[in-house]
Amino acid sequence: MIIQRRKTKEIKIGTTAIGARHPIAIQSMAKVPTKNYREAISQIQSLEKVGCAIVRVAILDEEDAHAITRIKNAIRIPLVADIHFNWKLAVCAIKAGADKIRLNPGNIYKKQEVKEITSLAREYAIPIRVGLNSGSIPKIFRYNAKLRPALKLVRAALDYVKMLEDIHFNNIVVSLKCSNVLDTIEAYQAMAEKCGYPLHLGLTATGFSDVGKIKSAVALGILLSQGIGDTLRVSLTDRPEEEIRIGQYILSSLGLGGAGPEIISCPACGRTEVDIEKIVNELQAKLSAFGTQQGAKPFKLAVMGCVVNGPGEAEDADLAIAFGRKEGLLYKNAKPLRKVASKDAVNELIKEWKKLCQKS
Ligand code: SF4
Repeated sequence: MIIQRRKTKEIKIGTTAIGARHPIAIQSMAKVPTKNYREAISQIQSLEKVGCAIVRVAILDEEDAHAITRIKNAIRIPLVADIHFNWKLAVCAIKAGADKIRLNPGNIYKKQEVKEITSLAREYAIPIRVGLNSGSIPKIFRYNAKLRPALKLVRAALDYVKMLEDIHFNNIVVSLKCSNVLDTIEAYQAMAEKCGYPLHLGLTATGFSDVGKIKSAVALGILLSQGIGDTLRVSLTDRPEEEIRIGQYILSSLGLGGAGPEIISCPACGRTEVDIEKIVNELQAKLSAFGTQQGAKPFKLAVMGCVVNGPGEAEDADLAIAFGRKEGLLYKNAKPLRKVASKDAVNELIKEWKKLCQKS
């Protein structure tokens, strides 16, 4: 199956562009006060190392907004300012160098205030994310008992987008975040039918980290498989680097890039004569240490416990190994390459993976 990405308007966020022609950008958010700019810089630099393409920071007051300038000077990826309640902070953030503004229609909605923001955003050529959240839907839609939760978000988003377009602003990205998987899917599907702006996928308030990862994988996986989604954040009650790692796995599982090599491995059984779990964990850790390049070719590496399924999986993988007792047969591009000792398997796979990367 080949995923046909939805055609959308191209939107530039600093040096990164999103939209149908561009790789799906994985985002995260700094989880320290923005005014503590040294801590924020350190966290964002750590996110850059694991492949974060866009980072968002919370702007609660003018001190946070002014910190944007210092942070921007120390990081390489585009920075988004997250604004709620106070439209003047959006103005400060734009002047301080934010590459995009996230506005919440639930708390910044007066036309004159939005007009002031768009006028400056236009001057600085930066986009606005219309960032709906199920916890702060504008009241007019929140208490409409006739609308399902997902459609409340969609109606509110369309309303806000129309207001922006009426004031001749169309440098727009839209997000519709719920904590419920089915509502999230319904909301983004409906929005994708009704607007041509890029969609920022994500859930909100996902709960315990493991549950959040699964909910995100299910909701985002379904939407991405339907070609919906131009940028994403896996919101987790966890370290921000973990959000990037899971986002990369979701994209890579769908062949949409994102995580460097994809490792497939057998679950092991009574035939297995090596410690597959240990080998796969070591391989993953060593590959992760190389970091991830946005849009890098996602090679597939198969680690199989025996020859029952090894040769078959090797046909679909760029690199594969099928283990016997003390050695494994290494395959490259579906052809047997050489036998390697089990204890050397991880290093041999990495050696061959590096050769593939050099050629791609
Ligand atoms: S590939 Fe072999 S070792 Fe792995 S689960 Fe299948 S039969 Fe068992």
